[in-house]
Amino acid sequence: MIQRTLSIVKPDGVRKGVIGQVVSRFEKAGIRIVAMQMRQLNRKDAEGFYAVHSERPFFGELCEFMTSGPVVVMVLEGEDVIALNRELMGATDPKKAAPGTIRADFADSIGENIAHGSDAPETAAVEIAWFFRGLDIVS
Ligand code: GDP
Repeated sequence: MIQRTLSIVKPDGVRKGVIGQVVSRFEKAGIRIVAMQMRQLNRKDAEGFYAVHSERPFFGELCEFMTSGPVVVMVLEGEDVIALNRELMGATDPKKAAPGTIRADFADSIGENIAHGSDAPETAAVEIAWFFRGLDIVS
């Protein structure tokens, strides 16, 4: 099934200069990028986006990190792209991520792990709408 998902190159990915390499992995996997924007999140943006994690012990650290520099937010489109993107990213903890995945290759820690990807169709829809309006996405 053709799906859409939200991808974010997190502040560590922008600082390390690997935006292009992350995007390249998506393109090589046949994923279409249908929206893309660089932006600086403020505290309210980060807390809202990660609201599902608000009770987790690392919530403050996560919001601090996500506002520590610009991010690149993208809508990816393709066959089963939600699972495919998560496969390309690898496990949350880069030490546990499969070799050759984005997080295994570029990330330093479970907190600073280069990329975000929606985990299900429902969250993808909410996350895409959080950042993009209809006309921002090409068809
Ligand atoms: P994901 O779906 O693979 O991104 O993982 P989760 O939904 O479990 O967590 C969301 C994000 O919270 C992760 O990508 C990390 O950036 C951050 N995170 C998760 N676990 C930890 C942790 O133990 N410590 C810190 N500092 N951040 C974490």
